[in-house]
Amino acid sequence: MNDHKFEQCIKCTICTAYCPVVAVNPLYPGPKQAGPDGERFRIKNKFFFDENLKYCMNCKRCEVACPSGVNIADIIHSARMRYGHQKPNLRDMILASTDLMGVMARPVAPVVNAVAGSKAGKWAMDTFLGVDQHRTFPKYQFKGFVGWFKREMEASQASYPRQIAFFHGCSTEYQHPEVGKAFVQVMNALGFGVQLLDEECCGVAMISNAMWKQAKQHARHNVAAFEKAVDAGLPVVTTASTCTFTMRDEYPHILGVDNAKVRSSIVLVEKFIHDLVDKGKVKLVFRKDYKARMAYHIPCHMEKLGWSIFTKNLLQMIPGADLTVLGSGCCGIAGTYGFKKENYAYSQAIGQPVFDEIARVNPEFVVSECDTCKWQIEMSTGYAVKNPILILSEALDLEATAKANCVNG
Ligand code: SF4
Ligand code: SF4
Repeated sequence: MNDHKFEQCIKCTICTAYCPVVAVNPLYPGPKQAGPDGERFRIKNKFFFDENLKYCMNCKRCEVACPSGVNIADIIHSARMRYGHQKPNLRDMILASTDLMGVMARPVAPVVNAVAGSKAGKWAMDTFLGVDQHRTFPKYQFKGFVGWFKREMEASQASYPRQIAFFHGCSTEYQHPEVGKAFVQVMNALGFGVQLLDEECCGVAMISNAMWKQAKQHARHNVAAFEKAVDAGLPVVTTASTCTFTMRDEYPHILGVDNAKVRSSIVLVEKFIHDLVDKGKVKLVFRKDYKARMAYHIPCHMEKLGWSIFTKNLLQMIPGADLTVLGSGCCGIAGTYGFKKENYAYSQAIGQPVFDEIARVNPEFVVSECDTCKWQIEMSTGYAVKNPILILSEALDLEATAKANCVNG
């Protein structure tokens, strides 16, 4: 919860210079005014609350830039929760209920994909819901990750010498099961059996859409599941940067859900593998015939986590990888933010420098740990975006890696 770090603000305005929203949206007061400055007034009188705080994308770039360690975006979103009158409309609830929508869409995935991709479907969503018609929706998959895992992989997992718990997240289950499959293959090759958690959506989209009660329920459910895993000696390993960041930091800072017992055990797979390699606990054997020219887009929440160095180092270990690390910049999607009609133009304007740089670099594909960055960059540039664990699964000689790690699996 907000612990009043606003008093540390030295009014340097660096946060305002780094905020991608304030540069394109004149309605947004900016991080300094919305955060520490506004908080001084709000704690005296709640009527100073400004509903335009809803334009904050919660990208955390202001917090990364702040020299005084002010938790600016936490202050803004805690204020939205305490004083805001924003009630989610039907559009917001649909966009934020990622797991519920996934469960409903999966059995009729080809129909949902066809409608969401058609001109008439886009027009209807724009007109009746307020989802911008220029937005491309990710495709739902008929067969998800969990079903595949239970059918083909679960029985063999106990035979591995070490075990981890995997938080796969909504997009791996409903849209990109290949990420989960790659994760299991790589972890097995490194000698780790994978166990699934009783997980729910991390709730980040609910936080953005003022569904505070539901976000807290999800947070409490996930923390309880993580506590069980941690009590059993299992780290919780993830593949999506925003889920990871939300479960580590937004649960206690915005939702007030205590995760102290498990926070340090929630770790992105790139950091997890990097730490193991660093300590000499696993060996990676790469394919000699793998060659790829890739550009790494660092998601905003990876910058906040400070973990992009691990992904970069891992990718640089691949002998055939020609890696360009793109300049720091927000792609503009911010989860559900860029789907909304009222934000679409801002979202694209924010992402334009990133899109331009990708076009200049002209890689074979882009790398990113964030699925919504993937959707935004693929839609706006035409370049494919891959999760780093997918690249590792393609670049590693999985059999030789398993041998090198004495896995009989
Ligand atoms: S979180 Fe992002 S959008 Fe919000 S104030 Fe900070 S920099 Fe601006
Ligand atoms: S960057 Fe930090 S110290 Fe500077 S104005 Fe913003 S909140 Fe205050």
